[in-house]
Amino acid sequence: MSIIDEERLKEIALSREDLARYSRHLILPEVGADGQRRIKAARILCIGAGGLGSPATLYLAAAGVGTLGLVDADQVEASNLQRQVLYGTDDVGKPKLEVAQSRLQAINPDLEIVRHDARLTSANATEIIAAYDLVIDGSDNFPTRYLSNDVCVFARKPNIYGSVFRFEGQASVFAPHLGGPCYRCLFPEPPPPGAAPSCAEAGVLGVLPGIIGLIQATEALKLILGAGETLAGRLLHFDALKMKFREFQLRRDPACPVCGDAPTIFAPIDYEQFCAGPAADDDDWFAAPEGVPTISVRELKSRMDKKEDLVLLDVREPYEYEIARIEGSRLIPLGELETRMSELPRSGTLVCQCHSGMRSEHAARLLKEAGFENVYNLQGGIDAWSVEVDPAVPQY
Ligand SMILES: [Zn+2]
Repeated sequence: MSIIDEERLKEIALSREDLARYSRHLILPEVGADGQRRIKAARILCIGAGGLGSPATLYLAAAGVGTLGLVDADQVEASNLQRQVLYGTDDVGKPKLEVAQSRLQAINPDLEIVRHDARLTSANATEIIAAYDLVIDGSDNFPTRYLSNDVCVFARKPNIYGSVFRFEGQASVFAPHLGGPCYRCLFPEPPPPGAAPSCAEAGVLGVLPGIIGLIQATEALKLILGAGETLAGRLLHFDALKMKFREFQLRRDPACPVCGDAPTIFAPIDYEQFCAGPAADDDDWFAAPEGVPTISVRELKSRMDKKEDLVLLDVREPYEYEIARIEGSRLIPLGELETRMSELPRSGTLVCQCHSGMRSEHAARLLKEAGFENVYNLQGGIDAWSVEVDPAVPQY
């Protein structure tokens, strides 16, 4: 079913120019004149006019979207040009939205651009998002991602999620009112501030946001048309090096603080600004603390075979645990560790484990600071375990 209000649709007609311009849409039975009118009626908000927002807005402008709202307070920097294709060399130093507006309107003069030259905050998010049919989250930080998610859940608007890191990206549609979970069902709370290096240090292959941003734009058009199956309830993961797409089923968490059966969050929250990764499996976002002893996967295996007294503590997210786990491990996500330490035995050996060893290093340090003595970090995480010890454990 299309998310476009039928009443609003009555006022939208296609001009003679529209019929020529969108002829390749009009001959698609799934679009047709009715679908093109829906696209023309649509009001889409794109949060962030950067790597993801560039391809998404360029193609949505070309596709005939009626209104595009853009939220971004930044100016164009030289280091943006490797992937943010809205901008050219001469634009360095200019406000992004000023450049984006003229570029997008040059593609499609009928497009109405609404500029929100600001950061999305708890003070403005509700009012900004209220004016749109759906949100494309092209942000690159946790505070904005949680804010966009929460306000979209409150306002019952689809939130099209995308993120990129190095050679990998992922996308989903968060819309509990249409089925499936919200972002907080997967990650109830942001990771602790200070647990990640700065955003500027994170690399990304220039073409990657092009792929993920266009998946987001595709989902936006499908929601507008009411065509096909959206990514609601699914997380699509893309690995550019392996050139593989993988898909994970996602479920709404009845205990979710925002969309669950007994929600505890009812208003937008401003989280402390810090930089951390977009993807649950992006362990590298988490800084490597010093001074935590490590253990290799082979050594862990031999100690487990000898039935040594040890607790294997998995600090990943529940949905990762569902994909792959080491038999006998106990799950306490990193974000919950500080409040749930009392569940862990003070005697014996604790081995912390995550996807590739960075989050668990952070966990091990927290445990040592809290007085746990025999704490080790599993080198290479479950990924190494799968490669070196047990290939039956899926890699993701
Ligand atoms: Zn939720």
